[in-house]
Amino acid sequence: MTDASNSAATNDNSLTPVARKSVMEIAAYVPGKSKAKGATLHKLSSNESPLGCSPKAKEAIASSVDHLELYPDPASTVLREAIGEVYGLNPDRIICGAGSDEILSLAAHTFLEKGDEAIYSQHGFLMYDIAIRAAGATPIVAPEKNLTTDVDAILGLVTERTKMVFLANPNNPTGTYLPFDEVRRLHAGLPSTVLLVLDAAYAEYVRKNDFESGMELAATSSNVLMTRTFSKIHGLASLRIGWGFGSASVLDAMHRIRGPFNVTALAQIAGAAAIKDRTFVETAIDHNDRWLAWVTAEAEKLGLSVTPSVGNFLLIHFPDEDGKRATDADAYLLERGCVLRLVGNYGLPNCLRMSIGSEEANKAVIAALTEFLK
Ligand SMILES: *Cc1c(COP(=O)(O)O)cnc(C)c1O
Repeated sequence: MTDASNSAATNDNSLTPVARKSVMEIAAYVPGKSKAKGATLHKLSSNESPLGCSPKAKEAIASSVDHLELYPDPASTVLREAIGEVYGLNPDRIICGAGSDEILSLAAHTFLEKGDEAIYSQHGFLMYDIAIRAAGATPIVAPEKNLTTDVDAILGLVTERTKMVFLANPNNPTGTYLPFDEVRRLHAGLPSTVLLVLDAAYAEYVRKNDFESGMELAATSSNVLMTRTFSKIHGLASLRIGWGFGSASVLDAMHRIRGPFNVTALAQIAGAAAIKDRTFVETAIDHNDRWLAWVTAEAEKLGLSVTPSVGNFLLIHFPDEDGKRATDADAYLLERGCVLRLVGNYGLPNCLRMSIGSEEANKAVIAALTEFLK
């Protein structure tokens, strides 16, 4: 090819495929860093499990690697039945996906189109914004109070264009939650044509009497979809397994656009084994309870404020005035092998989000922060 033809091909935009305008307006999701500058000792940037996964999940995978030539069960039957058994849910009303991200995205693509609006809250999980825009709809952001979802703010933004509301409960990255009477009030205030998505990715960790994941509400309403994941408490993020529970009509619509083989065979069998291993889950909850309290108390002793979290992560605030900024802390920690998460893209430029890690990781972060603040 001559220079002339080459430059013509690359400079003329009319010769390249043009993505939808709404797609080009999406700010791509920025995953947590996985490497520190030196040796990575502790990755605490993506709320992954410090305990790995259930040994039963690994055994299940090992016993089923012989038939990789076969397509997986398109209905994820074994997985849906295991979930149904553990939570007492009708498996017909469970939909499985490649992570709950896929469930969120399927829901957006199923219920939203151009001209529609979907609401999420100010510091809400950024995948909602991406899913809404990808479906061609308009995201509407509801302000929060005390880094917590404000039901009245959401209800105040509902118009005849509103088709969906996304609520992470507890929310990532704030770690705060809405008591369930507030979730019920939100649901009661929404028109029945609006789909309320309750993203309960961290529900297993919550130890509060006034919290519910939304199962009951999803079981009894036609416009509620609860989503869950195997990426957090079950420690299976690499396999990509999530699920949703909702009404027959909501699921029927979503199944029409779901790829038939969206959950791999290894993921289905490992997920089924993992969710039945309640001992592993209890151990993970105990570990989190203990270290969430410890890290919170130690960070506060250092004079840092911590947003009370009910998840497997916490939000640490850095005072801006004396130059001890979150970005400096992040760099300092990275040099010491501790990878946390800057959350400026969530409108929280003075904060770092830290996942609860192993005892060693948690102690390493507190030791490094102690040095940093000296
Ligand atoms: C981690 C997380 C998810 C889970 O994502 P997967 O796709 O299942 O790995 C969903 N929602 C929130 C709020 C999360 O933080």
